[in-house]
Amino acid sequence: MASTKKKVTIALQCTVDTCKKRNYTEYKGNNQQEKLEKKKFCKHCNQKTMHKEAKIK
Ligand SMILES: [Zn+2]
Repeated sequence: MASTKKKVTIALQCTVDTCKKRNYTEYKGNNQQEKLEKKKFCKHCNQKTMHKEAKIK
């Protein structure tokens, strides 16, 4: 496959088991292997929680 500098859109999903809401979207390089993890405010949990990368359909 040819390498491109294409960027993909991913969702940042709240990691709290009872929540799992996708609160944010971010871009990342197509060849970036590691999963994004960020501490972000979740309005459903009403606090800052860890958000992990999830795929967008
Ligand atoms: Zn949450």
